[in-house]
Amino acid sequence: MYDPISTRYTFSCPAHGEARVMLHDFRELDRLDGATHPSVYRVRYACSCGDEHVGLVAHDELDWAPLGLDGAVFLNLMTDRLEPAEVEFGDLAARRIGAGEWPWSFFCYPEDRPRPVFPSMFWLLAPGGRSGSVGLAVRCPACLRVSINIVSAAHVDIPFHNDAAVGVVDHVFHDDALRTIEDFRAELDSSAFDARRLELQ
Ligand SMILES: [Zn+2]
Ligand SMILES: [Zn+2]
Repeated sequence: MYDPISTRYTFSCPAHGEARVMLHDFRELDRLDGATHPSVYRVRYACSCGDEHVGLVAHDELDWAPLGLDGAVFLNLMTDRLEPAEVEFGDLAARRIGAGEWPWSFFCYPEDRPRPVFPSMFWLLAPGGRSGSVGLAVRCPACLRVSINIVSAAHVDIPFHNDAAVGVVDHVFHDDALRTIEDFRAELDSSAFDARRLELQ
């Protein structure tokens, strides 16, 4: 359901039959109670038909498939053959993480520092600020508090593509502050953003 070549997830669309969406097309991620191996997320996503739909994504599809760790195949441009992606992408991803690079990161406002993160910690996303940019509410894996960053679409979609600097909403959000995606969009429209550098080392 995740294709590492196009970096797209495949869902179903009532109008077109199939919806192929990127991570930055996600609007809301909600971890379902109950399923734990793997855990399952209910994802609301913006479809090319103009509507938003809801689909289910397993935890490994969110966090590991973009790194090639799902047993998918990819087209090797050197040999022009389909090869197991896990060997190529997985090994490369492991080496880059070992060298201190991180596939995804964000700036934690309450802690005043950049943090590594995985897509399963993304909460709300919406087009925001400058054209082409994405507003992203993230629950910090370390302090569990919510920060809002303004990032490029590639920062969200492409593992190891980290913006050098991101916009950060200058505000600590309490758990009930962003109850709905509408609250989030209003916050994006009304907030001022500070630029922060995203160097993890
Ligand atoms: Zn659709
Ligand atoms: Zn934090």
